[in-house]
Amino acid sequence: MISKEDFEAFVERLVKEDHREVVGVQEKGDKFVFDELKAAKDLRLDYDVTILPPKKYFMPQRETLVKYKVKDGHKAVNEITPRIILGIHPYDLEAIRQMDKVFSDTYEDKNYLKKREASVLVGVNIENVSEWCFAGSMGTSTIEEHYDLMLTDIGDKYAIEIGSEKGFELLDEADVMEASEDDISAVKKKKEGVKEKFEKKLDLPPEELPILLERSYGNTDFWKEHSEKCYSCGSCNLVCPTCYCFDVKDFNELTLDEGERIRQWDGCLLEEFAIVAGDENFRENRYQRYRHRFMRKGRYIHDRFGDIACVGCGRCGSHCVPDIADPTEIYNDLKEVTK
Ligand code: SF4
Ligand code: SF4
Repeated sequence: MISKEDFEAFVERLVKEDHREVVGVQEKGDKFVFDELKAAKDLRLDYDVTILPPKKYFMPQRETLVKYKVKDGHKAVNEITPRIILGIHPYDLEAIRQMDKVFSDTYEDKNYLKKREASVLVGVNIENVSEWCFAGSMGTSTIEEHYDLMLTDIGDKYAIEIGSEKGFELLDEADVMEASEDDISAVKKKKEGVKEKFEKKLDLPPEELPILLERSYGNTDFWKEHSEKCYSCGSCNLVCPTCYCFDVKDFNELTLDEGERIRQWDGCLLEEFAIVAGDENFRENRYQRYRHRFMRKGRYIHDRFGDIACVGCGRCGSHCVPDIADPTEIYNDLKEVTK
């Protein structure tokens, strides 16, 4: 346990250290973002949802993978900043767990994994729920592992659960005390209580999504109707904590003496995403791209890794201008038409 006053002093000490960066959730206009923390008082652990998930620290929007000079050969690039990330909600921790699996499966992606290793993840249980969030239906409104430390606000103090050696070491610098029986039951109550706070809900257990999606793949009318207003802007992909597709491009100097290879986020809703050599586009119609995202979240990743790749953060729904990306709307409608 730590008093809120001591917690602020602890964060202030971390912010002043110069061997690693401290990032945390802060206000940006009427929204919230993960950003570098300059002062402990800027940290907002009572936020509802951030614009982008913390994924951006392990898989930056754009990063250089290789640089070459004809004279010197090539060298792999991996820019790593040791970092403490403060205030990650349980659904985003679950998304990071899934991404860790994806990036270490058949090929160990060093650019992702080394950044993960250099990070300390400090979670926080949800205090305020975004109107778009349905983590309560996806089993991600709380989490019992996959963090280094986990905070729960219980009035004038935070309970801190320790999830790893890294988290334990970080607490060396904090004035913590043992939790009492009352503190432990307060945390339990808080975690149970959060499940009741979600207004948005899925009308079926998430485990039924793979079979529901398999049955509805051929219902072209359904997908056409729901995707009619889609701009193919890709926002629903870019804000998603479990989207990991990227494009790789080479940039060469005109002399061809040197250059670099970069990767940057890509998204399956973008028109050019599935174009291959010869200009063949495997998903040239809007409804095919739109359907693909839902298939991917609820079925394909499940077939491949055993996870439902939607953690219920609600970011896709809230960022879609024509308001057609909310997964609960689609899956609940699908359940109705597939009866
Ligand atoms: S579903 Fe919405 S956010 Fe996604 S690409 Fe279409 S318009 Fe953009
Ligand atoms: S599909 Fe939407 S609700 Fe699900 S994890 Fe991605 S952004 Fe969040």
